[in-house]
Amino acid sequence: MKLLDNKVAIVTGGTRGIGEGIAQLFAAHGAQVAFTYVSDSSAEKATTLAAALQAKGVKAKAYQSNAADPQACEALVTDVLKEFGTIDICVNNAGISKDNLLMRMTNEQWEEVMRVNLNSVFYMTKQVIRPMMKARSGSIINMSSVIGEMGNAGQSSYAASKAGVIGFTKSIAKELGSRNIRCNAIAPGFVETDMTQYLQAGEAAEKYKAGIPLGRFASAADIANVTLFLASDLSAYVTGQTISACGGLNI
Ligand code: NAD
Repeated sequence: MKLLDNKVAIVTGGTRGIGEGIAQLFAAHGAQVAFTYVSDSSAEKATTLAAALQAKGVKAKAYQSNAADPQACEALVTDVLKEFGTIDICVNNAGISKDNLLMRMTNEQWEEVMRVNLNSVFYMTKQVIRPMMKARSGSIINMSSVIGEMGNAGQSSYAASKAGVIGFTKSIAKELGSRNIRCNAIAPGFVETDMTQYLQAGEAAEKYKAGIPLGRFASAADIANVTLFLASDLSAYVTGQTISACGGLNI
């Protein structure tokens, strides 16, 4: 028996980085996986990933869907329910950064980060709790960030959106705990993905690593492992929590 046998999971932003790591690990642990991507340029990657997940012996399907669009989230959940029958796990992973000093940050930059990082979590969670309430079971996992806990110069919009995710997570845990729906957040530190490409090499990388007790950046797999714990029944008594996976950066 695998940790996620007979479970259906949705993962937003699944074609690369942390989302792809989660989709791969969930499938390896027996989950059926519906994952999303947003841009046309990711379509080929999505088809390849769906095939790789299916090769692990599970049902898997890619959906082009913008997590920042409430109608798209509603349509996505309807389509996934039609195809997979239920939704046991929702990983709200899609996210962006538009870093800028406050003096230079435009309203558009601020609003886009809020739409993709925070509004999306509300839109998706609102939709997935319907089947979860019916099943009296579910696990919602929201990707926050250590920056949401600590703040960072030049990242006020990102930090505010990720702190918002933590407040939302705690509230949903309180609201839906009696229905056996759990809601937790993960606060990764620096993870080696496209999002952090600019700081992965050279002097800057060494400076950042020096501040991390474990002395290295995280891999997508490091974060996927924490997500697997929160998705599975191993965390059956864990809700409303933010699990820091930051190599000790926040201590
Ligand atoms: P990434 O840029 O590699 O991947 C982000 C994914 O989100 C991509 O698949 C992208 O297509 C998708 N996405 C973006 N906008 C979307 C939208 N509107 N609708 C649907 N999908 C959309 O970044 P990553 O590092 O894998 O980040 C994944 C999550 O982890 C994000 O929420 C990010 O904020 C968070 N995070 C990352 C780090 C890090 O150091 N990389 C640290 C803390 C938290």
